[in-house]
Amino acid sequence: MRLFDLHEDIGHWYSRGFDFVSGDGPTSLQKLQALGDVAVVAIMFPATGRQRYDLTLNTMLSQLKFMLELEREGKVRIVRRTSDLDQPGVKFVIGLEGTDSLVDARDLLWLHQAGLRLIALTWNYNTKFAASCTAKKDYGLTDLGQELVELANELGIVIDVSHTSKNTVIDVAKVTKKPIVATHSNVSSLKQHYRNLDDDALKALADTGGVVGVTSIPDTLPSPNVESMVKVANYVGEHVGWEHVALGTDFLGLERYPEGFSDLSHLDHLAHLLGDKAELVLWRNAYRVFKETLPP
Ligand SMILES: [Zn+2]
Repeated sequence: MRLFDLHEDIGHWYSRGFDFVSGDGPTSLQKLQALGDVAVVAIMFPATGRQRYDLTLNTMLSQLKFMLELEREGKVRIVRRTSDLDQPGVKFVIGLEGTDSLVDARDLLWLHQAGLRLIALTWNYNTKFAASCTAKKDYGLTDLGQELVELANELGIVIDVSHTSKNTVIDVAKVTKKPIVATHSNVSSLKQHYRNLDDDALKALADTGGVVGVTSIPDTLPSPNVESMVKVANYVGEHVGWEHVALGTDFLGLERYPEGFSDLSHLDHLAHLLGDKAELVLWRNAYRVFKETLPP
């Protein structure tokens, strides 16, 4: 089966001392290899509750090194240009969740050289670049944030608005020249939750040509089960178009999972429930966005 998973917390799993290669988490390198043709956004997650820049930077660097080491050992291919997406095997798109470890937009210059191809503007903390979904005053995208988006567009780095505020999504959609994504977010119309996208945000994102990665975070689903994930996919598909629906499991980042979706081996069942939309949701839509954004 071809899979494009928009969000796996591989860096965080590594930092916690767990085995990504052959461990028994909901996903692992072995499990991805067994699927065959897989692209996964491998997330670096430095914002572990610490406000100190030096610590967030160190965390990010150690996670980056882990991913580059996997590449050197020939275990994964790091996606740097569009043609890498068409290679067989397990492909990592290196992503950063939150801008807590950045000083300014120009940090993208070296991160891009190191392989970064997706950046989430915030985790649950506000940053100098953008307001997060927990902001008391939703200041949206700042001037610095706009610089970051423009430079990311130029370099071919995909912008992720999961965890950001509503105004951030709307502001980014106005500024970006490339499709934007919400790698792991569900929708407010089906479940009120601070992490979910309301209809305005959903529409703004879709208008850029982007995708929403339906996610398995139990509290953000109408009910904590795999059928609810399909409900979210249907909602996005019917309201803004099926070309905007994708999957971001958030595997390795969760303590609990929806019933029927707690391991990569459950993908077959999800694909079955998605029916003739499965190929779009599990592969083609996300693939299109990265093809349109990454350097050739
Ligand atoms: Zn997250």
